[in-house]
Amino acid sequence: MPLTHRIESQVAGTPVNAYLIEGERRLVAIDGTLTVSGGRAMRERIAAIGKPLAALLVTHAHPDHYGGAVEVIAGSEAPIVATAGVDGVIRRDDEGKEAILRPMFGDEWPAERVFPTQLVDPGAELSYGDIELAVRDLGPGESPHDSIWLLGDDRRTVFCGDQGYNHMHCYLADGHWESWLANLDALAAELPDDVTLLPGHGDRAGRDLLDWQRGYIERFIAAVRAGEWDDPARAKQRVVEAMSTYLPAHDLSFLMELSIEPVAAKLGLLKPSRS
Ligand SMILES: [Zn+2]
Repeated sequence: MPLTHRIESQVAGTPVNAYLIEGERRLVAIDGTLTVSGGRAMRERIAAIGKPLAALLVTHAHPDHYGGAVEVIAGSEAPIVATAGVDGVIRRDDEGKEAILRPMFGDEWPAERVFPTQLVDPGAELSYGDIELAVRDLGPGESPHDSIWLLGDDRRTVFCGDQGYNHMHCYLADGHWESWLANLDALAAELPDDVTLLPGHGDRAGRDLLDWQRGYIERFIAAVRAGEWDDPARAKQRVVEAMSTYLPAHDLSFLMELSIEPVAAKLGLLKPSRS
């Protein structure tokens, strides 16, 4: 069974996971981190292991999972692999992400990003020597297009992207929380009881993570709905308080705070122009 290595980058208080799967002769990367230094840390780990990179597979269409890929694959011929849905959203949204992320991360947000070079069908099975992976395309959820990658014949090791953040605050600003909840239901029904989830943020987890994530989303949406939006600052503060009760830790709390007004607007509680 191939080994899995987690590479967590922590640039600007933003913990992001990417992974390397180590087969007998080759490596496969799952996601590319957000930043220049995150991508370089991946490349250094690849060099330290001393096996060639066969491919970089992308879980979903958010920049903290593909931004650093340009550094990961520098000097290699490895394809960047994604479903057509994930690829399409990355290409569509990248320029908008540039406008948001450049002021936040400066030169750590790569000046040029690279996009998928090999598209696979939903459900495709790929093998790289003894590393076997299958993709499950999920559509909108945490991002406008999500997928997960399942490792091995038994598919008990799952690179689940941001389907479940492991006890870190979450990004809901894309507004697809109903689909996200439906995806969590589908995964809870499909994944084996002893599954290991390797998430995009935080430590590895079991299937309990799916329940925790459902609770987080439901709590967040309820808190936004309960807000008195004639006073947006106060309504926002109440959501932050509710979510701090659900999860006292502060990791990625800026992502949750960025999500409050877009979700309120989507619920018709706040005019978008006032945000
Ligand atoms: Zn993420």
